[in-house]
Amino acid sequence: MSLFDKNISKEKRESLELAEASRESEWKYPSFALKLFHGIVDWPLIHPFPQQSVQDKQLGDEYLAKLEKFLKENLDPDEVDRTGIIPQKVYQGLGALKAFAIKIPKEYGGLGFSQVNYNRIIHLVASYCGSTAVLLSAHQSIGVPQPLKLFGTEEQKKKFLPRFADGTISAFALTEPDAGSDPRNMSTTATPVEDGKYFLISGEKLWCTNGLVAGVLVVMAVTPPKIVHGKEQKQITAFIVETGTPGIEIVHRCQFMGLHGIQNGLIRFKNVKVPRENIILGEGEGLKLALMTLNTGRLTLPAASTGIAKWCLNVARQWSAKRKQWGAPIGEHESIALKLGYIASHTFAMDAMSWLTSAMADDKKKDIRLEAALAKYFCTEHSWTIIDETMQIRGGSGYETSSSLRARGADYWPVERVMRDVRINLIIEGTSEIMHLFIAREALDPHLSRSKVLLSSHTSAAEKLKAFMAAGAYYSLWYPKLWLPSLRSYPVAEPLKAYLSYVDESSRRLARDVFHQMLRYQKKLEAKQSVLNRIVDIGTDLFAICAACAYADHLMKNGQSNAAELAELFCRQAHERIETNFRDESSFVDRLGVRVAKKVLKNEFSWLETDIIT
Ligand SMILES: Cc1cc2nc3c(=O)[nH]c(=O)nc-3n(C[C@H](O)[C@H](O)[C@H](O)COP(=O)(O)OP(=O)(O)OC[C@H]3O[C@@H](n4cnc5c(N)ncnc54)[C@H](O)[C@@H]3O)c2cc1C
Repeated sequence: MSLFDKNISKEKRESLELAEASRESEWKYPSFALKLFHGIVDWPLIHPFPQQSVQDKQLGDEYLAKLEKFLKENLDPDEVDRTGIIPQKVYQGLGALKAFAIKIPKEYGGLGFSQVNYNRIIHLVASYCGSTAVLLSAHQSIGVPQPLKLFGTEEQKKKFLPRFADGTISAFALTEPDAGSDPRNMSTTATPVEDGKYFLISGEKLWCTNGLVAGVLVVMAVTPPKIVHGKEQKQITAFIVETGTPGIEIVHRCQFMGLHGIQNGLIRFKNVKVPRENIILGEGEGLKLALMTLNTGRLTLPAASTGIAKWCLNVARQWSAKRKQWGAPIGEHESIALKLGYIASHTFAMDAMSWLTSAMADDKKKDIRLEAALAKYFCTEHSWTIIDETMQIRGGSGYETSSSLRARGADYWPVERVMRDVRINLIIEGTSEIMHLFIAREALDPHLSRSKVLLSSHTSAAEKLKAFMAAGAYYSLWYPKLWLPSLRSYPVAEPLKAYLSYVDESSRRLARDVFHQMLRYQKKLEAKQSVLNRIVDIGTDLFAICAACAYADHLMKNGQSNAAELAELFCRQAHERIETNFRDESSFVDRLGVRVAKKVLKNEFSWLETDIIT
């Protein structure tokens, strides 16, 4: 956005240019969430709530039953946590169940499952063992199978996909010690040799999940630059790399707060020779590939988070009823009751969002980049609050390790381990802060596309005039409509209608607000993260209300009449957050916070950091 801002630093401009060049610019299919940010609730896009076909559901049910039995008989998550090892028999058993080829089409030896069934599997595994869920998802959501399925050539598919059906594991290597959220800092290079028939990859990749046990990796590396508009532009290319290739060294296995069983490490590449045929999507298209892979890959974390939230609901319910203090079960004390209400209502909303977005991915007729990001952000953030509240409900027993609980014969629920395992979800596959920026960029895209020509230095005065007239004509029709009262009645069960009318009104209020903020800050809006964050948070909760209402309506029609109560509680809680965000959009506290942060960075409050051991 602030590409047009002349005051930004050269580094920041280059980072933004690279991100812009890598984003998918076209909106081929409609997006419910995009419209929501622009004052339109395109209800038929999500209602009736999509349902799995009987056949697809049966396939999933049968597989889940087999997998659950296998995991219970062969995998002890506490032992994985204690030893840092997922036993070999589990890798073998999962391989035999084709759990490393869940979404790979049958013609290449895979199970050929839908996104919904894949996410149901990850949901189940995540509720039992975080490390095993990450083993499966790092391989299939971002590892080699997904980009190959989406962008691979027939030769590449034939060569690599059948291996995953035989139990080969893959990994995704993007991050480097100096390149986390910002890939511009990437320094791993792929230098063409032998007339460009091969590339020599050199550099280091950090935190590569499964990297230590993988047979193949997707490696992002910098290839020779291109000249775009007279300027050199960094090119990032994705390569399939076999881990047996000479020059690959595992330097270090990383250890983390949680997920002790994942085989994650620092990998060094020294002149690793890779043939040109191993490029996926094309030279210079690596970042685009990563972003497009993540559009679907990101749907796994909402499903995993929902599995964990349901596990928390189960623990919190049992303990709140069983544990008595001050003459009553703790669940009857209002403070704990409110926590239980929050856990139940938000688990319900997460469930709605996860299955709605997964079904959208299977449908393939909707653009899901925004919906997936909203679901990832919403579900990972709330699953963290949910595990935190579950720990509070469990009291001291929540903080005690599972082996200690077991040793003294106490009720065994490994809340402490699950909490350690869950925290990373707010960081991987796009941190919450980067999700805010991504969602804001995509949500503002229709406005930015209209203003691009006006603000660009590459367009002529005549083109600018034409764009100005077109924008004027569009906004003179669009903007007044945002002020009209809504008379729409949604075709849902009675208690839900009012919440959808609220969404209708708030969506138009949000669209007006976005427009006003754009006029107010213009080129500087990108830097106003406090404003963008509130816009994104409002959009997230509006989307969640829509998903929850569509889901509740579906469940009610299928006999689950009290689903309305969960939806109602969720809608009211989300409503409170939305109103707070609208009210505080130009918050003095935010401005004060930023001012204090500047002083913190200049070390002006060093007097506060005394009498501590550092
Ligand atoms: C357990 C684990 C597994 C992982 N698995 C993989 C993997 O398989 N493959 C892989 O390639 N990588 C993997 N990663 C890396 C992960 O994707 C990165 O940690 C993540 O992208 C964030 O990068 P970073 O940690 O360097 O944080 P940084 O980018 O340094 O960010 C630090 C903080 O600053 C914030 N921040 C950064 N830029 C901005 C901005 N412009 N505006 C506002 N806030 C900002 C971030 O949100 C964050 O809070 C893994 C990491 C871990 C810990």
